[in-house]
Amino acid sequence: MAQEESQLVRGGSFMFHPAGTLPQATPEENSEEALAIAEAARDFVNGEILPRDEEIDHLDLELTRDLLAKAGDLGILGMEIPEAYGGLDLDKKTALLVLEQMAKQASFSTSYTAHTSIGTMPIVYFGSPEQKAKYLPKLATGEWCAAYALTEAGSGSDALGAKATAVLQDGHWVLNGTKAWITNAGFADVFVIFAKINGSHLSAFIVEKTDPGISTGAEEKKMGIKGSSTRTVILENCTIPEDRLLGGKGKGARIALGILNVGRFKLGASSVGAGKRVLEYTLRYAQERTQFGKPLNAFGLIQQKLANMAMRIFVGEAMSFRTIGYLDEALARTSWERETGGADKMKAIDEYAMEASMSKVWGSEALFATADDAVQSFGGAGFSAEYPPEKIYRDCRINRIFEGTNEINRLLIAQTFLKRCSGVDGLPLAAAASEPLDLPKDDLLRTVALSKARALKVIALAQGLHGPKILDNQEAAARIANMLLEIYAMEAAVVRAQKMAAAGHRWSALALDLATAYAQEAWNRVQAEARMLAAELASDTVLDALVADLLAMQAPAPVALSAVRQRIAQALVEQGRYPISAV
Ligand SMILES: Cc1cc2nc3c(=O)[nH]c(=O)nc-3n(C[C@H](O)[C@H](O)[C@H](O)COP(=O)(O)OP(=O)(O)OC[C@H]3O[C@@H](n4cnc5c(N)ncnc54)[C@H](O)[C@@H]3O)c2cc1C
Repeated sequence: MAQEESQLVRGGSFMFHPAGTLPQATPEENSEEALAIAEAARDFVNGEILPRDEEIDHLDLELTRDLLAKAGDLGILGMEIPEAYGGLDLDKKTALLVLEQMAKQASFSTSYTAHTSIGTMPIVYFGSPEQKAKYLPKLATGEWCAAYALTEAGSGSDALGAKATAVLQDGHWVLNGTKAWITNAGFADVFVIFAKINGSHLSAFIVEKTDPGISTGAEEKKMGIKGSSTRTVILENCTIPEDRLLGGKGKGARIALGILNVGRFKLGASSVGAGKRVLEYTLRYAQERTQFGKPLNAFGLIQQKLANMAMRIFVGEAMSFRTIGYLDEALARTSWERETGGADKMKAIDEYAMEASMSKVWGSEALFATADDAVQSFGGAGFSAEYPPEKIYRDCRINRIFEGTNEINRLLIAQTFLKRCSGVDGLPLAAAASEPLDLPKDDLLRTVALSKARALKVIALAQGLHGPKILDNQEAAARIANMLLEIYAMEAAVVRAQKMAAAGHRWSALALDLATAYAQEAWNRVQAEARMLAAELASDTVLDALVADLLAMQAPAPVALSAVRQRIAQALVEQGRYPISAV
């Protein structure tokens, strides 16, 4: 066991391995079974969800419930539920492929994810055998729907500062308080609710909608995802049996934060799926609309946008699969057969908390940039509710806010990385930063290696000069996070493209162009962040030397990106879609 564990990729360790040498899962390597399920999900979304887009967005909750039940019939509500409780117990990669499809309709995708992920997973990982037997089979079929209630009006980012209370009285828990912004609240049958026992031990409870003392407020009037239900959940002497405590007294923080990690992986993946749909309709519009006697797609600045959209899809997918590969590998070494199966699985997921946050931040911002490119490519029509970009622009804005805001996730990324670089078993930050550069010959890998070297140098300086106190400067912490996530994404894209080339994949030339475009741009951002972080670290006199030292390092050869992007856009226009997808 100890030997097996030593072979797992450690969270955050990607910065310390030579560029391109870590094993990496890619979207090109799916099992037949995973592809068949993803295709079934695609047909379900195209046949049942997208034609009812408007009804869903008019908050037809009965329809959403019916569609969730249909998803249950297909088996895609129970993919991550153990077989013993009516699920399929599939790997996370399959769940990710399905989620990419669901993401084509943002409101339904939000309801689906709140149910299958943050609503159901606390019971999967922390439920007693009796709780699992009672709830999971019904959640797997969609007979019951779930919600996760952590946030309160006074505690959002400060998620553990909940004021809701739980008191044990005569063999029953009595809950009081109000939860805010709860997805699926309008139709959920089962709520995982966080409250403090005797005002101090944050704990999780399973509350059913028919329990006395629970009610919900009015639907929130939102900017986007208008078809998803979001309400307050009000607990007024809500009385539930003693055995509804989930995971034990005081386990609330463990459950709340662990489950959020799962949600973050998934949000990164769903951003990719939504991006594909945006690119599809933007390609169509850029072909149909003419100006100056030419279709929009003949203009270099529209081609740039189309190419960037495809680049974000390619990189986002590479990044999601990279992370999910690590995760599946770690989860495969746990077993539901063991009494500690749920806790072991949660621990395996925790290892990649930093990668989960990176996927969430990167994916949500990439999708927002893509939606913005779509609005701009449509011109005035992009500003009109009659055309699709206006909706995606509103719908995807929430991704930067929920599952931990991107500010909180950036702070977590920097904090986790520096923590992992301290202590006896820590990742070797100081040593790696002072190692002589051994650069690969390949241009793309060289860009990754130089980015790592530059980031490690400046982060090691930050750690050396200020220790963990550097995190008190939140802008500096965000710069550390930005470098890490750019490098993680860049390396994922480069490895994916090179694997495709080595396998003779039909789209390998396109993939290499996509990876090249991203690596060049990401390198420039890493370099800028490194310089600005250096400026945060030292007094004027030391600063000049620091910046000079950073600049003295080699840089990758510049690439004329307009030609690269023109080739990408041409392939997209010829195909009329993003052509690399497995499904
Ligand atoms: C549509 C929707 C659905 C949701 N669904 C659910 C759900 O199903 N279950 C659930 O429990 N919650 C849910 N939420 C709540 C969501 O998770 C919170 O809104 C989110 O965590 C942010 O909390 P807040 O709104 O209180 O913002 P605040 O915490 O007040 O943050 C406001 C701003 O300050 C920043 N900020 C806060 N603290 C810090 C800090 N320490 N350092 C730097 N910046 C900081 C934030 O990044 C943000 O920019 C949902 C929210 C929405 C809008």
